[in-house]
Amino acid sequence: MKDLWNNDNVQFARLISEAEAIGLFTRKAYEELGREMDLKPDNISKLIDRAQAVFEDSKKRLTHYCKRCGSPIKKNGHCKDLTCPYSDRKQNATFTEG
Ligand SMILES: [Zn+2]
Repeated sequence: MKDLWNNDNVQFARLISEAEAIGLFTRKAYEELGREMDLKPDNISKLIDRAQAVFEDSKKRLTHYCKRCGSPIKKNGHCKDLTCPYSDRKQNATFTEG
């Protein structure tokens, strides 16, 4: 939990999810990925859906802990660790500085 950046499950799912969100997975990308991965484009779509589900689940599970330092989050959304930059402001849901 403390070292979210090094959590491959979360970060790989996040990468795929964000790539989908910015429109990186075009029809051409589906076809090329399908060829490279020996999968039908429909299965590429299913993998993207699974990555998004993993990422959404990760976000839900991690909402009660500071994404920067891993300390518990107080009811007001601020980190309990007073040395953490998020001790006086809320974090956003995408694990970025906010
Ligand atoms: Zn913190």
